[in-house]
Amino acid sequence: MHETGIAMEVLRLARETAEREGARRIVRLKVVVGRWSGVEPETLRFALETLREGEMLGSAAVEIEVREAEFECGGCGTRFGASGYFDPCPRCGQEGAELVAGDELLLKELDVEDA
Ligand SMILES: [Zn+2]
Repeated sequence: MHETGIAMEVLRLARETAEREGARRIVRLKVVVGRWSGVEPETLRFALETLREGEMLGSAAVEIEVREAEFECGGCGTRFGASGYFDPCPRCGQEGAELVAGDELLLKELDVEDA
């Protein structure tokens, strides 16, 4: 389950960011998980909630935002949501659109409480 490693990395990044800002405590953190990132959102949430500890992170609320996959057609440039690479463009019917969003995994927001 690689979500554990990812969760540790997210928490490390959150802690470093908060420390750099001189915060005492992280109140809330929000992670964006692309539908196609290979990460299961609920598993990641569980890992984050299990691994958060200490004064800085122990009471941080975990928010997960799932971003749906978005494709861009190479023929006409239309962007559309699809369930897979083999879905044709809804406008011109061309196949083989490029994935432009939905494979990301990032720490998007951090609410902190100052010392
Ligand atoms: Zn098209």
